[in-house]
Amino acid sequence: MLVLGIESSCDETGVALYDLEAGLIAQQLHTQMAMHAEYGGVVPELASRDHIRRVVPLTEACLKEAGKTLADIDAVAYTQGPGLGGALLVGASFANALAYSLKKPVIEVHHLEGHLLSPLLAESRPEFPFLALLVSGGHTQIMAVRGIGDYEILGETLDDAAGEAFDKTAKLLGLDYPGGPRLSQLAESGDPDRFTLPRPMLHSDNLDMSFSGLKTAVLTLTRQVEASEGEIGEQARMDICRAFQDAIVDVLVHKCLKAMKKAGMKRIVVAGGVGANKQLRAGLNAAAAKYRFAVFYPPMALCTDNGAMIAFAGAMRLKFAHGAGGFSVKPRWDLATLPKA
Ligand code: ATP
Ligand code: MG
Ligand code: FE
Repeated sequence: MLVLGIESSCDETGVALYDLEAGLIAQQLHTQMAMHAEYGGVVPELASRDHIRRVVPLTEACLKEAGKTLADIDAVAYTQGPGLGGALLVGASFANALAYSLKKPVIEVHHLEGHLLSPLLAESRPEFPFLALLVSGGHTQIMAVRGIGDYEILGETLDDAAGEAFDKTAKLLGLDYPGGPRLSQLAESGDPDRFTLPRPMLHSDNLDMSFSGLKTAVLTLTRQVEASEGEIGEQARMDICRAFQDAIVDVLVHKCLKAMKKAGMKRIVVAGGVGANKQLRAGLNAAAAKYRFAVFYPPMALCTDNGAMIAFAGAMRLKFAHGAGGFSVKPRWDLATLPKA
């Protein structure tokens, strides 16, 4: 069974082919990052228009890469939500039109289930059940995952997502969009002992988190440094980045440890763009060694949005495949409402 996966929920157009026997056989990706950089964030209308331009050539390139033709496709999976309405509609209409013309079924995929299952595309794959830390641009959740579609949310951010906190903080430090990866790169050369920022909700008796206060704390710190030193110098900026990253990683690792104990899990899976963060990986790896549990990550390139995770999630949900035709998108969609596969 060969599943074509289409991702278009935000600013990446992703297309991939996942075969139930051979695994992931091809994937193509176009990121609109450079296009949105000029505006300091994603412009929804531009995103939709760009998906329209990219989706057909990317699909052709993907088939070519795999040495397959349209006739080889058994089902078309696409991201139905959550995400930007107009952007989602491009993938949904393309997937439905293609499947309809091929007389093949479609499968709607939840974007976060795609992220959540992406560690199963790595060489070292976790078995169920596992704890999942989903840390992306729009979400930060800790979940107990007992099977495909069996997701219990144990805790989540009450305000900004971790990736959003990275991006907003980067912006106020004057870094180019998207700032998360850049901030984390600068943090590597920062002095961990120079500044300390608060760890919001570190000791709350639940598994919820809050990151919006951190950017305000960074703003206050920046003003203090400016007051004493004038312009923020290169080193001071790196030190602030380090303090910010230390705080966020500390909270995430601490909450994960607490959740592992509470849910009685032995494995943890990290998914979403912030899962690419080296310091978060180092922190979780150290905790895993100390408390004897296993940590699993998606391949680095599959941390942020891509078509591979959508093709894979679709392949895991083949039993829900149905005839193409009338369709809708779900810009808001609660992961916990998915049926078990
Ligand atoms: P969602 O999946 O919740 O709809 P999204 O698709 O925008 O949101 P992802 O593509 O999973 O999110 O991840 C993008 C986010 O990951 C951005 O906020 C980006 O700054 C962040 N990110 C990527 N790499 C790193 C890194 N190395 N360190 C910190 N943050 C990172
Ligand atoms: Mg993106
Ligand atoms: Fe995403």
